[in-house]
Amino acid sequence: MTTSPQAAEIAGAKHIHSGKVRDLYELDSGELLMVASDRMSAFDWILETPIPDKGKVLTAMSLWWFEQLDVPNHILSTDVPAEVAGRAVVCEKLDMFAVECVARGYLSGTGLLDYNATGAVCGIPLPSGLVEGSRLDAPIFTPASKAELGEHDENVSYDAVVATVGADTAAALRDLTLDIYARAHGMAEERGIILADTKFEFGARADGTIVLADEVLTPDSSRFWPADQWSSGQQQPSYDKQIVRDWLQFESGWDRTSGDAPPPLSDEVIERTRSAYIGAYEQLTGRKFTA
Ligand code: ATP
Ligand code: MG
Repeated sequence: MTTSPQAAEIAGAKHIHSGKVRDLYELDSGELLMVASDRMSAFDWILETPIPDKGKVLTAMSLWWFEQLDVPNHILSTDVPAEVAGRAVVCEKLDMFAVECVARGYLSGTGLLDYNATGAVCGIPLPSGLVEGSRLDAPIFTPASKAELGEHDENVSYDAVVATVGADTAAALRDLTLDIYARAHGMAEERGIILADTKFEFGARADGTIVLADEVLTPDSSRFWPADQWSSGQQQPSYDKQIVRDWLQFESGWDRTSGDAPPPLSDEVIERTRSAYIGAYEQLTGRKFTA
């Protein structure tokens, strides 16, 4: 249902894959060049309207987190071709695990949908009476399958992860996910931001080492809520693409079930979203964003 995005040509780099947001290239060295575009995805559609500077904000924020987290990660260098400066990294080419490793400390999104339907998320039973934005007693690992472009990622059980990657790797991915989430949640909280949930992707080096890859702890891969405005039972104001999701669902007139592509974003929504991404970056890192 989504069309494949067009990746720009970069001298000395061979285009190998485009996801919804990032374009991957292979360098002569065998290393990867991962370029974050300004594309915005919502409800698994690539929107036709880009958000200016989003790729740079996401790249800077991921790099900041990689520096904070004491976990093996895929970053090799930020020395990249001039045309993608600020929005790309050179990283190790890993054998990616086909699992989206999600941690949730609060209930929202597909977690809430599953809970409302079954009382559980990914087969993990939760107490009754939880609502939009409820804080969970303890964060939970709620993996999702990695869908092909144009398909929806689907929440899966822990057993399904075991079937995909084996018991030892599944346990390692779960423990890493919950450990990194807990640390990042604490750091974000000190800065007035609730990290409600987040998704990690891991890959393996040739020697089997599990490495944190992709982007980390950005507004695209996470829900960030202003801590001083959180209260359960309501849609939380947020620093992430919830602005776009809400506009598409409730204001644009688009029918999500129609199968039609979402309409272009209004200038006001573009600007509000851009400001939210930059605001999240600046509040988290204490650094000023420069385009
Ligand atoms: P979404 O994250 O919205 O589901 P997507 O998964 O379709 O989108 P992008 O995030 O746009 O894709 O593109 C990044 C791609 O690069 C993903 O397929 C991801 O698994 C892959 N990737 C990230 N880091 C590495 C790495 N170090 N080695 C190999 N592949 C990687
Ligand atoms: Mg991705």
